[in-house]
Amino acid sequence: MTDRLDLHTADAPWLRTLVDRIRAARADGNEEEAARLEAYGHAEGSEALSRMLTQILGLLDARDQAVARGEEMEPFLVSAAEEGQLVCDFCTAANPTVYYPVTEFTIQAPGGGFLSGDRFYACPRCRELIDAGDWKGLRTWIGPAQFGLGHRLLLMGFKQHRAGAPVEFEPGTNPESGR
Ligand SMILES: [Zn+2]
Repeated sequence: MTDRLDLHTADAPWLRTLVDRIRAARADGNEEEAARLEAYGHAEGSEALSRMLTQILGLLDARDQAVARGEEMEPFLVSAAEEGQLVCDFCTAANPTVYYPVTEFTIQAPGGGFLSGDRFYACPRCRELIDAGDWKGLRTWIGPAQFGLGHRLLLMGFKQHRAGAPVEFEPGTNPESGR
């Protein structure tokens, strides 16, 4: 086992590979290796990636326990945003200024189903591209390294489930509070 993944944190499969390795180490009873990989993930990943690592590991444990009880777990919501903070759902930039209502949908992934939520927040740049219908421009803006399968499914789902015009809100306010 190398000390690092052979992937950069900006590579789309970075998080997925790390989660797989941590879970494989735990399945082998190698808690030390699992803990080392987890610490590496928190040290190397951005704040958002670090939060998502914690969320995904917790959710997968919960799913395993549900499966062990013979139950199926409900699809879950994973977010790069900190509690009470908003990020652009497309490029994860801070301070989105608008949201697009969507009918909630589920993305099926190997780890389970992920819920889309019923609002897609966008920063000014992503909004501009979305409103222009410039999907190619949006993919370029998100960056080819970040634009993996998850992003493709998310964009496809967004296009299919959009429910109305973008809703603007005051910068610095959080339309999620009090929902
Ligand atoms: Zn954005």
